[in-house]
Amino acid sequence: MKVLVPIKRVIDANVKVRVKADKSGVELTNVKMAMNPFCEIAVEQAVRLKEAGTASEVIAVSAGVAQSQETLRTALAMGADRGILIQSDVALEPLAVAKLLKAVVERESPELVILGKQAIDGDNNQTGQMLAALLGWAQGAFISKLELADGAAKVTREVDGGLENLSLKLPAVVTVDLRLNEPRYASLPNIMKAKKKPIEQLTPEDLGVDVAPRLEVLEVVEPPARKAGIKVESVADLLDKLKNEAKVI
Ligand code: AMP
Repeated sequence: MKVLVPIKRVIDANVKVRVKADKSGVELTNVKMAMNPFCEIAVEQAVRLKEAGTASEVIAVSAGVAQSQETLRTALAMGADRGILIQSDVALEPLAVAKLLKAVVERESPELVILGKQAIDGDNNQTGQMLAALLGWAQGAFISKLELADGAAKVTREVDGGLENLSLKLPAVVTVDLRLNEPRYASLPNIMKAKKKPIEQLTPEDLGVDVAPRLEVLEVVEPPARKAGIKVESVADLLDKLKNEAKVI
């Protein structure tokens, strides 16, 4: 069983994001980039399926600028077998990514696609759901548990107020939540080995997909600065301020 893992290159989660002076987006020049944290969890899960003998091959795929190749190398160092880079300098919207992934699915015929539930840059939380809809496949979003047996994926989803257990008929698309697993760090020998693993280079044109943006960004601005807090002397003082100054009680 082949498993496809789409991964996105994003600003490293530890970097303080700065808005560009012209408000057209966020500053990416000389900024440390990394694999989207939810995609790391997706790669980890796919590699565990391979180690358990359930998956025969793990293919990582990334759409974006040429440097996304570094992100693919990280996935290969974690244990993916090969990579596919769909190179594009266009800012790719979730629908464009989903169409590109659909084309890759049609070429590779995986039985399972494991995505992150959300990319921490755009916070879109759309790509997996759109891909499942375009393919007409079963989908399980925000999974915190995955078991494969008898042609089905049994998943536990984190929903408002509890957990939902679903059985998805394969082939299926799942998107992973934080509690599914703890991704491994790639060891030095595996980083060296990953350099020799193949990465196929494609373009949206090769896949026959139009990735022209459908949305227009009007303005990107910093969130308002938080006002400094104050210390109150007593509970009575606090209640008085909540009632008479903040007027929230
Ligand atoms: P989003 O819908 O943008 O929040 O992203 C959700 C998930 O879709 C990510 O965690 C990735 O698994 C996948 N994804 C999004 N953008 C890309 C991309 N450019 N290349 C590959 N996978 C992507």
